[in-house]
Order: sequence, then C-alpha cells, then structure tokens
Amino acid sequence: VSNRGDKMEGDTIFGKIIRKEIPAAIVYEDEEVLAFRDIAPVAPVHILLIPKRPIVNVAAATEEDGVLLGRLMLTAARIAKAEGLEETGYRIVTNNGAHAGQTVFHLHLHILGGRALGWPPG
Ligand code: 5GP
Repeated sequence: VSNRGDKMEGDTIFGKIIRKEIPAAIVYEDEEVLAFRDIAPVAPVHILLIPKRPIVNVAAATEEDGVLLGRLMLTAARIAKAEGLEETGYRIVTNNGAHAGQTVFHLHLHILGGRALGWPPG
C-alpha cells in the first residue's frame, strides 16, 4: 500500500474498519485477517472475512497471495463452526466485479448461514 498524503491506495471502508476508524462488530481478528458482521445482513448469520492486506478481489490476487487465500477459507470454516453453522451448513461467497455485484473493492468472503439459502443465486 502506497501512502500519498492522507489517501492510501486501495483503501476502502474496510480499511477504516481494519484501522478501527469506524466501528464494526468484530468476531475474529489476527495479524493477517479480520472478520466482522455485515452491516446489512441477508441471513441470520452474515459475516465478512477480509485480509488486512487490501487485495481488490480474487481476480487481482497473485501467486504470492495463495497462502493468505487458503488461510481465509480455513478461517471462514472455523468462524462458521464457532457460529454454530457446521451442522446445518453455510455458504462462503466472494463477489468479483460488476456482474457479481461487488460494491467494496477490498477482497472479502461472505459467510452466510442460519437459514436455507437458495441456489442458484439471483
Ligand atoms: P459486496 O457486494 O462487495 O460483495 O459486499 C460488500 C458488503 O459490505 C455488503 O454486504 C455490505 O452490506 C457490507 N458493508 C458495506 N459497508 C459496510 C460497513 O461500513 N460496515 C459493515 N459491517 N459492512 C459493510
């Protein structure tokens, strides 16, 4: 991340959450990743899991992000289990680009559960 004055490249609302500049209901944090409840949940459990490194989306990820991407998936499964979703099941989604409806350009996994989820998605 380069720093030009007070504007950091790749910065989004999630950057502000990482830096604790705006509040979020944080459910998990370590040195590499952060998980917090979505502000507009679409399921009884709707958590966003993000890398602290501001990767735009999976399309922008590189080979050197591979370990981090794996860590995100494994952490998502752990969080889902901690939320009591393991038995009933859950969905892990990442929206990539316009047709998927990506609105925040900082990679995030949606962890969704607590109700039966439709398939295919809209
Ligand atoms: P996307 O559509 O990019 O896959 O998902 C972005 C998600 O971020 C949306 O589900 C939206 O509700 C959530 N979101 C956007 N701004 C905030 C915020 O300031 N706080 C929290 N907790 N979630 C947010």
